[in-house]
Amino acid sequence: MKIHEYQAKELFAKYGIPVEKHALCHTADGALAAYRRMGLPKAVIKAQVLIGGRGKAGGVKLAINPEEVHRYAKVMLSTSIKGLPVTKVLLSEAVAIASEYYLSFTVDRNTRSVVLIMSNSGGIDIEEVARNTPEKITRFSIDPFIGIPDYLARRFAFVYFDRIELAGPMSRIIQSLYKLFMESDASLAEINPLVLTTEEQLVAVDAKMLFDDNALYRQSNIHTLFEPTAEEKIETSAKEKGFSYIHMDGEIGCMVNGAGLAMATMDMIKLYGATPANFLDIGGSSNPAKVIEAMKILLHDEQVKVVLINIFGGITRCDDVAMGLLEAFEKMDTNIPIIVRLTGTNEQRGRELLRTSTRFHVAETMNEATSWAVKSLKNKSI
Ligand code: GDP
Ligand code: MN
Repeated sequence: MKIHEYQAKELFAKYGIPVEKHALCHTADGALAAYRRMGLPKAVIKAQVLIGGRGKAGGVKLAINPEEVHRYAKVMLSTSIKGLPVTKVLLSEAVAIASEYYLSFTVDRNTRSVVLIMSNSGGIDIEEVARNTPEKITRFSIDPFIGIPDYLARRFAFVYFDRIELAGPMSRIIQSLYKLFMESDASLAEINPLVLTTEEQLVAVDAKMLFDDNALYRQSNIHTLFEPTAEEKIETSAKEKGFSYIHMDGEIGCMVNGAGLAMATMDMIKLYGATPANFLDIGGSSNPAKVIEAMKILLHDEQVKVVLINIFGGITRCDDVAMGLLEAFEKMDTNIPIIVRLTGTNEQRGRELLRTSTRFHVAETMNEATSWAVKSLKNKSI
């Protein structure tokens, strides 16, 4: 689960990690009022969208007077960043930056431990720093039984700061961020940049946190921070109906039973040169009501131009699945091409049944089904 920067900053503040003065605003007038109330000379307006690289995408603007605050907030609140509408902006005190650092805790699967990652090349894309200049990144595995006592925190802090006036505050930030990371079952707690101001103060100018979904049941305070995007709302409601559904950006909607087969179907679509619109595992049964629900989820996505149904009949027999599909599509109003591949128990009978309707293109193999789906997407006859 992701949270917004403003929410992460609230958690930071609770744990004593210094953040600059800020206010969450929903309108340009609200931003202007907050700017005046806070008595700021300069302010930074930041779009609150759950996506990285906001700065580069125009989601971070420095305003030096009231007119700019209003204008930038207005522009931001009427646009989308990487497809996500901006409904909130954070107005924060602009700090005078002397240098930018990177600081994060995450889980390292190789060492099977929490890892502290630091760099003095903060502010920019850390993946790029890791790729081009890996020597600029320092990593420390954290022993869960030792944690980060004072002596270790200071040792880490002294990697980038040679004076105790700075290493002291840095070591406290490291300890606080670790405490927050552990206590909230986070999978990432990241400050990029952690700024050293010209007045020699350390301030977390950006804040990013991700949480382990499987731990949310015991993190009710964190769970209430969840603000699902339109897509996540659909994914959640699909889950409640017993499907596992993940939205993607392609045009071929997939309805498959079994996660392994769903993955293989997606791979095949890629192999034939198209992109799946989703991952949808409808699970064991394929009764008509379930097929209708699944189709509704698929067709809700306007990008879907073709539907590929790939079903393995094991305990559920293919003829039953076919009956279900026939019944479901009788009730559905769509002229999107539907390609079906059934295999397994009673597959012959299943195909015969489907062929009684002109609604389906009935394929026999996965190759055939996928190539047909891609062809019909490209408006070629199949
Ligand atoms: P991101 O692009 O989503 O990571 O957004 P950030 O909050 O990290 O901001 C991007 C960049 O904007 C930072 O790396 C800084 O260089 C700059 N920036 C953000 N806040 C301030 C500020 O208060 N003062 C100054 N001078 N620059 C800032
Ligand atoms: Mn950032």
